[in-house]
Amino acid sequence: AKRAGRNTHFFFNEGMREEAEQHLQLHNDILRGLNADEFELHYQPILNIKTNQIEKCEALIRWMHPEKGRVMPDAFIPVAERSGAIVNIGNWVLQQACKDMRVLLDADIDVKISVNRSVSEFHSENAYETWENIFKENGVDSHRFVFEITESLFMDQNSARVNVISSLRDIGVQFAIDDFGTGYSAINYLRTYPVDYLKIDKSFIQDLLIDEQDKTLVEVIIKMGRALGILVIAEGVEEPGQLEVLQQFECDYIQGYWLSKPQPLSQTVSICHEHMSK
Ligand code: C2E
Ligand code: CA
Ligand code: CA
Ligand code: CA
Repeated sequence: AKRAGRNTHFFFNEGMREEAEQHLQLHNDILRGLNADEFELHYQPILNIKTNQIEKCEALIRWMHPEKGRVMPDAFIPVAERSGAIVNIGNWVLQQACKDMRVLLDADIDVKISVNRSVSEFHSENAYETWENIFKENGVDSHRFVFEITESLFMDQNSARVNVISSLRDIGVQFAIDDFGTGYSAINYLRTYPVDYLKIDKSFIQDLLIDEQDKTLVEVIIKMGRALGILVIAEGVEEPGQLEVLQQFECDYIQGYWLSKPQPLSQTVSICHEHMSK
């Protein structure tokens, strides 16, 4: 790059230009990677701690990049959300999750798959038709899916989005609020939009045993869920002590390294079989 005009103004714009260029490169690389079949879904089991059954598995995307090795979602999802590539990613994820669902069912594993959806995927006009088609083409029952979304999806009354959500609910797709407690504190949307699950963010679970305030918040969220008829999932459970507290509060589900890290499908099948035979 030329070094002329080294003032902050120039620097600022140069930085922005470089960032835009990097984002465009990553965007193109994502589309290339999707074509080249470089993405994979790993699964993390979600345990119902009242029945001791693995009821769901959350699909988490990984990119097996030919040069960079395994790339984690935080390194490309935020850029994909801004560039629009998230729509391609999201459709691929649902497609792959449907195929994986057939593998699980063939192995006599009776679970739902929970997939992460970005708010920007709901902006596209034909989102519902596209997703419904993916279920149909794969011959997989849409009741077997949960969509994990963040609270921001409900923050403005966009009628197209509301229609997508209610059409999905009509065909049996359930909804979970991801990262609950970290975003907007207005919770009146819970009255307007029925949701099935709240996922308590792992930042609250991390300090559950040492921070009285976090412990109180976790207890309050679980009580609120119960009062509203919304099931509560605690994510990021790593230690037995955390599980004990969550059981004491009568939390419904747990997810985290204590039970299992996210694993490729074949290992997930083994983990579920092992758990079933206990
Ligand atoms: P998330 O939905 O909140 O997912 C939970 C993250 O916590 C995952 O990170 C998971 O591997 C990690 N985790 C699970 N158990 C534990 C634990 O016990 N301790 C700790 N410290 N971490 C735990 P991951 O896989 O890196 O995913 C990061 C984020 O990327 C996800 O956060 C989600 O927002 C996003 N993401 C992942 N897959 C997709 C996808 O297919 N589509 C979209 N739109 N976003 C995705
Ligand atoms: Ca999630
Ligand atoms: Ca989270
Ligand atoms: Ca998240």
